[in-house]
Formats: sequence, structure tokens, C-alpha cells
Amino acid sequence: MKLHILGCGDAFGSGGRNNSAYLVEAKDRLFLLDCGPTTLLAMKRAGFNPRRLDAIFLSHLHGDHCGGVPFFFLEYLYENPRDKPLHVAGPPGTEERVKGLFQFMFGDASDPKLPPTLFHVLEPERQETIEDIQVFPFRVPHQVRDVSLGLKVAYQGKELLYSGDSAWTDLFVTHSRGVDLFLCECCFFDRDTPNHMSYQRIQENLSRLKCKNLILTHMGEEMLARRESLRVKSAEDGMVIEI
Ligand SMILES: [Zn+2]
Ligand SMILES: [Zn+2]
Repeated sequence: MKLHILGCGDAFGSGGRNNSAYLVEAKDRLFLLDCGPTTLLAMKRAGFNPRRLDAIFLSHLHGDHCGGVPFFFLEYLYENPRDKPLHVAGPPGTEERVKGLFQFMFGDASDPKLPPTLFHVLEPERQETIEDIQVFPFRVPHQVRDVSLGLKVAYQGKELLYSGDSAWTDLFVTHSRGVDLFLCECCFFDRDTPNHMSYQRIQENLSRLKCKNLILTHMGEEMLARRESLRVKSAEDGMVIEI
């Protein structure tokens, strides 16, 4: 199984990086963790036919993580029709948000049509299996009212943990145990905020994380400025990681 980093940037375009999009390629499955506005173009640039996509899993409904879904709908309606439905799974409110966004962005072209799509609600702590891909969502501290999820994904014996956007929580210690890769957001260097993580906080907890591989992502400017001196691997757009 391979992870293609299509976008590891934040919401501010820091470092000129694409918005969040992590494409998992297994022998017979292709799925996305998050789908920021730049995802379709990054997927084509990486040489993938978007029609091959089986599912999109959304960690939360901020624009830099879900704003790319309407472009896929447009692609499937007018450019590259699908033979089978696309699964879109995310926190409560995903279907309304994504449909509303499509309508807002493309007006008449989106009304009342939608390509074949199956929506799924990911409820915290409730495991889902979609196209044989197992997803365990858990709530992480990022938003107050709306639900933000961390996602633990398993397929064909490989496990991947994705923090989504989140402040530090010991749940990452629990869920990182034994996973092949932990993709962990790291917006800041030493600033502690209630909704994002800092490198310092990750450093403090490094020995508690029992994952086989750790990669930092979603880095803001203060992290990017220090990326040569980091003691943990960090993501780059276009990077491909064997899981
Ligand atoms: Zn974000
Ligand atoms: Zn966010």
C-alpha cells in the first residue's frame, strides 16, 4: 500500500503547498483522506485517473479539507463519468455541507444533479467498513461545536492513523499503537493553542507514540522555516510513502 501526499499544506497556502489531500493506493483500492480545493489538480498531476477513486474520507468540514469535493462532482458529471458510486464519508453534516458547496460553487451546473454518490456519517468511536476499508473515527480537539475527527484506517493488514486538524490529545498515544504510519498535523513550533499541535508538544510525547513511522504535516510558516532542523520526518507535496 502506498500513500501519495497530494497536499500537505495548511489553510493559508503556507510554503505554496497544496491543501490537505492524502491518497492511499492499494492494489485494488484508491481512496482519499481529506480533499482540499487543490486535490483534483494534484491527483491529475500525480498521474491518477480520478475515476479510479473509490472513497473520500473527511476528517472535518473546514474548507482546506473538504473544499475540493465539488470539483470531483463536476469532473464525474461532465468530463469523466463514473461506472460506480463514489463514497463520501465524514462527520455529521457532511452530506449537507458538500452538496451546498457544490450548488454554491457551480450554480445551475450542479442543480439538481449529482454524480452517483453514497454519503456516510462517521460517528465518533463507531467503526465503519466502506468498500472493505475499515475506518475508526474518534473525536479530536479542533472545533468546539462541529465535530472534528482523527481517522484510523485499515486495509489489507496495513494501518494508518491520521490526526486531521487537532490539538494534542492522549488519544493519539492510544490509537498510534502498532500502526504502520501516523500522519500527524503540526501547525506550530512551540505555540500551544486549543485547536492545533506544536512540534514541542509532539517532541514531549514522542517516546509514548508506538507507531512504526511518524510524519508531520499541515505545517505553518514557523514550522516550515525550521524544517531542516526537525528530528521527525515531515511531509512534502508529491512524496510517496510505502506503508
Ligand atoms: Zn486545516
Ligand atoms: Zn481545520
